[in-house]
Amino acid sequence: MKNEKLATLLKEYEDFQKLNLNIDITRGKPEKRQLDLSNELLDMVNSHSNFTDKNGTDVRNYGEAYGIEEIKNLIADIIKVNKDNIVVCGNSSLNIMFDLISRSYTHGIDGGTPWSKLEKVKWLCSVPGYDRQFSISEYFSMEMINIPMDENGPDMDMVEEYVKDPAVKGIWCIPIYSNPTGITYSDEVVRRFARLKPASKDFRVFWDLAYYVHHLYSDRRDHLLNLLDECHKNNNDDLPLMFFSMSKISFAGGGVASVIASDNNIRIIKNALKYQTIGYDKINQLRHALFFKNAENVEKHMQKHAEIVKEKFEIVIKALEEIEDIAWFTRPNGGYFISLFVKEGTADKVIARCKKCGVVLTEAGSSYPYHKDPHNSHIRIAPTFVNNEKLKVALEVLKLSVRIEYLLSEK
Ligand code: PLP
Repeated sequence: MKNEKLATLLKEYEDFQKLNLNIDITRGKPEKRQLDLSNELLDMVNSHSNFTDKNGTDVRNYGEAYGIEEIKNLIADIIKVNKDNIVVCGNSSLNIMFDLISRSYTHGIDGGTPWSKLEKVKWLCSVPGYDRQFSISEYFSMEMINIPMDENGPDMDMVEEYVKDPAVKGIWCIPIYSNPTGITYSDEVVRRFARLKPASKDFRVFWDLAYYVHHLYSDRRDHLLNLLDECHKNNNDDLPLMFFSMSKISFAGGGVASVIASDNNIRIIKNALKYQTIGYDKINQLRHALFFKNAENVEKHMQKHAEIVKEKFEIVIKALEEIEDIAWFTRPNGGYFISLFVKEGTADKVIARCKKCGVVLTEAGSSYPYHKDPHNSHIRIAPTFVNNEKLKVALEVLKLSVRIEYLLSEK
């Protein structure tokens, strides 16, 4: 019976192979229709009189190295923080995170020992998580420690225990519509973060708000407590470094990225930036500010994104429901990714099988430090870039591969 079933599935798989498919769902990139939503942004500065910002600075010239007033006001309005706690940088939040870590190695934080002089630097990694953040830790030869997550966020018992070790210097968190599971941290988890008392004074929570405004449904929206406020209540202001990027709002790699932090952390960051750069691209900052104007308009803009992205999430979820007997998956209310968990020990085989059929998924293990998924079970699905028809075919191949590998593993 089982063999018959396997033979039928393999025959179906061969039929898909004959189609010479070439479908790539590896990365969380917006599709063309999403990018087109922001095209008018490109004309904003041309039509703006005198090219000057509120303070009278000509954005085509040097000056305002920490961000123009208008863009700080916009970000403050979105995240609900004081604009003085924001430094606006260039096009990439990942780049800000890298720089902060790099400077901690060369110069230390606020008079602390440079991390390069320490015997060991350890870093907590909420898993599954964002591969590029883990790559930063790997690049600096940190010892990465997995902190498993459930639907409420990272295991806080583990976090509270690990921060007692002074070698532990930070944690990667994507607290809302996380990459890749799409989960959002509960209020209790955020409050426990805010109460953390790490042994190391230069421990920082890297709080990546990449998907902060990426709700898919008007009636099902996750909410996230403001970590900066919660930390303030606990006299723990310097703990978080929050990052906000417009890469998935306007143009991927062409947005505006910022860091949001306590007065003291902002002072430290500005002090380093004055050596690092003469200033970021203010023309891009101004056109973003003029195009979006306020949080309400960003919200409206994100609803247009949601109309496009939602369809894709629904295609994925509908397809995955057909294999719910042998796998489970997340059903995010926002963000860019869905996590699929297949039978332990088979994720790499499923991904390899899809690839042989022309459907490329994010590499097995890539959502874990050192590319090592301890259960070999997780598959990240990034449905946004391809069109709906291709996505449906990719899901057919994925479902088939999950079933085949499940049966093969039972043999
Ligand atoms: N943070 C997360 C969680 C992401 O998923 C991404 C991109 O996929 C980024 C950051 C990259 O943002 P940026 O383009 O601002 O570097």
